[in-house]
Amino acid sequence: SDEGAAVVAAVQAIAERLEAERSYLTDLDSAIGDADHGGNMARGWSAAAEKVADLDDPDPATVVKTAGKTLLSEVGGASGPLYGGSLVFASQELDGGITADTAVAFAETYLEKVQDRGDARVGDKTMVDALVPAVHTFKKSVETDDLPPVEALAKAVAAAERGVDFTVPIRASKGRASYLGWRSVGHQDPGATSTLYIMEELLDAAT
Ligand code: ADP
Ligand code: MG
Ligand code: MG
Repeated sequence: SDEGAAVVAAVQAIAERLEAERSYLTDLDSAIGDADHGGNMARGWSAAAEKVADLDDPDPATVVKTAGKTLLSEVGGASGPLYGGSLVFASQELDGGITADTAVAFAETYLEKVQDRGDARVGDKTMVDALVPAVHTFKKSVETDDLPPVEALAKAVAAAERGVDFTVPIRASKGRASYLGWRSVGHQDPGATSTLYIMEELLDAAT
């Protein structure tokens, strides 16, 4: 479908962006982790882009599910299962295609799965700090403020950006960075940052 092709193009754009940000994400992860987040994201999403490009006229749910499965198999560590597993699980919300309502359901289910798997809450200095405000803002913008989906997504991106900034002054309580305790303070979380980049590319693709 046309919608499926648009999602394939979005995955390609995400892969290119994460390749471009590879060394920056690795720098962030070397400060408070093991210096592999840039490589994990660039490698995983480039494999995902190749896989989804090979699908024969896919629908959006199939594209997202295939990308998630590829991330699961290509990326280990914390981020592979969190990104990959959550995309696979949330992809079912797009079975009926992409509308404002299915997009909200997708975002909520994705966040739920990330939190089920990782058990992180806002303030733990993880991708959840970008995701929670983004998903809540997206839902509110669509359901309460009645904004068109693209405008709602733009608000969600702005919220994610504030979430990324919020990770800088706080101490990590989940993931590798938590091993550093107070020494994690003053550093930006890599996973929150890659989450923001992915959302920025989704917005760009939707515009
Ligand atoms: P690893 O830490 O295994 O090397 P990555 O470096 O690829 O994996 O990813 C690190 C990112 O994963 C962190 O910056 C953080 O955002 C995210 N993360 C780690 N643990 C969790 C968790 N329990 N819940 C949510 N996100 C997490
Ligand atoms: Mg790492
Ligand atoms: Mg690692």
